Amino acid sequence: MDSSTSRIFPRRLSLSELVTLPSNWQVSFTLLVSHRNSSSSSRRRLTKSVFTGAETHLMIRHEKILKAFDPLLQDTLQEHMVKTGIHIHQNTNVKKVTTEVENPDIHKPFRKIVHTDKGEEIEADIVLWAIGRHSLTDDLGIDKVGVDLAKNGDVVVDEYQKTNVDNIFAIGDVQGKELLTPVAIAAGRRLSNRIYGGVKGDKLDYNNVPTVVFS
Ligand SMILES: Cc1cc2nc3c(=O)[nH]c(=O)nc-3n(C[C@H](O)[C@H](O)[C@H](O)COP(=O)(O)OP(=O)(O)OC[C@H]3O[C@@H](n4cnc5c(N)ncnc54)[C@H](O)[C@@H]3O)c2cc1C
Repeated sequence: MDSSTSRIFPRRLSLSELVTLPSNWQVSFTLLVSHRNSSSSSRRRLTKSVFTGAETHLMIRHEKILKAFDPLLQDTLQEHMVKTGIHIHQNTNVKKVTTEVENPDIHKPFRKIVHTDKGEEIEADIVLWAIGRHSLTDDLGIDKVGVDLAKNGDVVVDEYQKTNVDNIFAIGDVQGKELLTPVAIAAGRRLSNRIYGGVKGDKLDYNNVPTVVFS
């Protein structure tokens, strides 16, 4: 933060202060910002409901939302969002979020400024980060048993969910592939079939896993 910014916005916020949502949320959007309107009555409205009537900004790092999905889905949803009044900031990264509020109650909306790499400064009451998630395996002691972890902390497994250590397996989100409930369940079923049920070679096929987008 340069000195002029720090005079106006003395405190830089940490991520944990920005959201009161579960830390491992995953949404395909980079960031959702709800703008703080200037009048106190509109601010009250925003406090009650982020998504009904509040000015909303969506920052995405690329051209389109849902970048891993079919272009038809991307275009249709993006156009619809723009039509409904959401301000989409394409090819935009957030540089920092600051506030001039001293000791804010992080469980309630408070004034923040979102600074983008395009030089924009967007005032907001609520900022929702939706930038993906990874496994929190740092302090599990996994290193002590010698299990390989990927750079992002996910447990590395082979196609049979087996780690590099015999008799240690990983299924579900912690192994980092297809982070979906039915996938975790299916992988667990296959693994138990194989280990306890005598079903030789049973394993989950991770190809062509269907997904649904709620918007
Ligand atoms: C916001 C959101 C929306 C989602 N929506 C969908 C959806 O619509 N459809 C879908 O299929 N999937 C959805 N998912 C993904 C789905 O929740 C996960 O894929 C699924 O829960 C993975 O199951 P899991 O058993 O691997 O992990 P989890 O369900 O996360 O279970 C891991 C458990 O381990 C516990 N744990 C963690 N560390 C320790 C420790 N050190 N010691 C003991 N216990 C520990 C945790 O408390 C947790 O109970 C969503 C996820 C999020 C975050």
